[in-house]
Amino acid sequence: MAEILQSPSRQVLPSACPLDCPDACSLEVQVEDGRVVKVDGTHLNPITQGYICAKVRRLPEHLYGPDRLLYPARRVGRKGEASFERISWDEALDLVAERMRQARERWGGESVLPLSYGGSNGLLTQDTTDARLFYRFGASRLARTVCAAPTNRAAAGLYGKMTGVVPQDFVHSRLIVLWGVNPSATGIHHVPILQEAQRRGARLVVIDPRRTPLAKKADLHLAPFPGADLPVALSVLRWLFEEGRADLEFLAAHATGWEELRRRAAPWTFGRAAEASGVPAADLELFARLYAGTSPAVVRAGWGFERNRNGGSAVAAALALPAVAGKFGVRGGGYLMSNSGAWSFDRAGAMGAAEPATRLINMNRLGETLAERDDPPVGVLFVYNCNPLMTMPNQEKVRRGLEREDLFTVVFDQVWTDTARYADVVLPATTFLEHEEVSRGYGALVLQRGRPVAVPAGESRSNPEVFAALCRRLGLARPGEPETGEELADVLLGPGDRRQADLDRDGIAFPDAGPAPVQFVDVFPNTPDRKIHLVPEALDREAPHGLYAFQPDPATERYPLALISPSTNRTISSTFGQLYREQVPLEIHPADAAARGIGQGDAVRIWNELGEVRTVARLSADLRPGLVLLPKGLWSRHTQTGATANALAPDTYTDLGEGACFNDARVQVERVFQ
Ligand code: SF4
Repeated sequence: MAEILQSPSRQVLPSACPLDCPDACSLEVQVEDGRVVKVDGTHLNPITQGYICAKVRRLPEHLYGPDRLLYPARRVGRKGEASFERISWDEALDLVAERMRQARERWGGESVLPLSYGGSNGLLTQDTTDARLFYRFGASRLARTVCAAPTNRAAAGLYGKMTGVVPQDFVHSRLIVLWGVNPSATGIHHVPILQEAQRRGARLVVIDPRRTPLAKKADLHLAPFPGADLPVALSVLRWLFEEGRADLEFLAAHATGWEELRRRAAPWTFGRAAEASGVPAADLELFARLYAGTSPAVVRAGWGFERNRNGGSAVAAALALPAVAGKFGVRGGGYLMSNSGAWSFDRAGAMGAAEPATRLINMNRLGETLAERDDPPVGVLFVYNCNPLMTMPNQEKVRRGLEREDLFTVVFDQVWTDTARYADVVLPATTFLEHEEVSRGYGALVLQRGRPVAVPAGESRSNPEVFAALCRRLGLARPGEPETGEELADVLLGPGDRRQADLDRDGIAFPDAGPAPVQFVDVFPNTPDRKIHLVPEALDREAPHGLYAFQPDPATERYPLALISPSTNRTISSTFGQLYREQVPLEIHPADAAARGIGQGDAVRIWNELGEVRTVARLSADLRPGLVLLPKGLWSRHTQTGATANALAPDTYTDLGEGACFNDARVQVERVFQ
């Protein structure tokens, strides 16, 4: 950093993107006088190919825009009013430490709830000194379940989180199935790979209730109703077994539970699955024949189809397909879910504290926890790497909880989020370009270390620094333990770690299995017996009605429309939402709009028993009838009333992993005359 300050000329410095995205791009950052002026991609990470997404291109605006949090501040107005006065770091940290102490004296350590998720996937920004602080303090623990909990349960139960097919290997596939994933918005580097695969003759199947850009270019598009992907997968599994297309030799050698899976799939004829999912039976059969008859075939499972009451079983059934159809053992064949399981790090060493057996709070019930629980109540909520008011289900209940006068809320963030408006103390955080970071992809198998390239804006500080300072104030620090980003990175990777040597030499490291392992050649299931468990006992016990049991649609006469809230190419969850000002419309099918007298651009009200959102309508034939769409990651500024899709999302749980059921929101829509 000193070097940057002393050298005012323009520099181009390497970095790596740690945001919640599969690619972990390698970056080059143009810096002038310690300020970032441009961010672009390099070729160091093979998937980056020298370009990056539009979101991260806007990083300079994020860093230096009007919403950047520059100084610690204390609330002086009402909660939600965003009235604050600047204070020093010492005052802020003293106040936070004091309020944590008071809460512990009054209600016990569990009355402090740390809440963090997804603001950065950087390995130093979460689960290092923050965990050390909250574990040693005896705070409540957080179940981070708002995304990927059901998919993780399914992938771990069936395969022990076996490493998947890397996106670059899709060019070797002859059939690619994109299931509940929209790479045009959430994985742009996959798009040219898919195009190249198609140019080489691969067939593309897209399973998504919307006609996504790639669905328009697909050979087959299946549009199941939200929550009905499970019958689609089960009907294909049934057909594979019934038609003698299951690879029984492979199953006998490498899988358990296939007979039970066959029994559970048996009732799902194409006709019955068509009725449940809204996908024509002929299309289901076409998909089954295409999948059985084409190799290498890869299933790219995204996170879109986990967010409902059947989500865990649906993902498990989709991941069972390559096992039953015998698609492993060739490059470009198998599945890709999350590749986070490809890595191991010394997290315990970096935390320096064992996880206590304190109460576990599911973040999907944040509203209920803040507004209703008193066993003990949450006295201090410490929010970092997260904007829970805009990202958790049952938004109005979260808001009511944040409004509690006896709740002390700390928000430690990079920008003035909607949640920060309800804080008692705000603390400014550095971005990954201003601090040390370690980034690893969960699609691309790459590990990179990013050094600080810019001077921290205002008085912003890094997460490790702030949590270490709080440890000291609360008497929880121990001499000699790692505190700085650099020290923590060295512990995470461990002395003598081959990856550290690779990073020092090449700037990038790959897992032991290499950058592009082949499933059942280079990598195998990480289950105890190294086999695939198609009906794992633990998952079967966990699912309320048993694994692969289908729960019908929750629509009612009052709330007949299914609301989905998928990711867009503008934000990563809610990160970067402050960069957009304009109102975001509700997308509705022209037939549903006509039935309600709604025209293009009309003001509309969307509501159910949990809340109400007002915005304008955009008619879209890319949705199937019965479906409406309001994107994920909106801020209060993007609707007329400040509420977003999360205000209409129930805080019920998925069948596996107690995940969020965003796509189980059922709503009504009407035109509003203003
Ligand atoms: S968000 Fe994803 S695509 Fe964008 S720069 Fe980061 S890793 Fe690359």
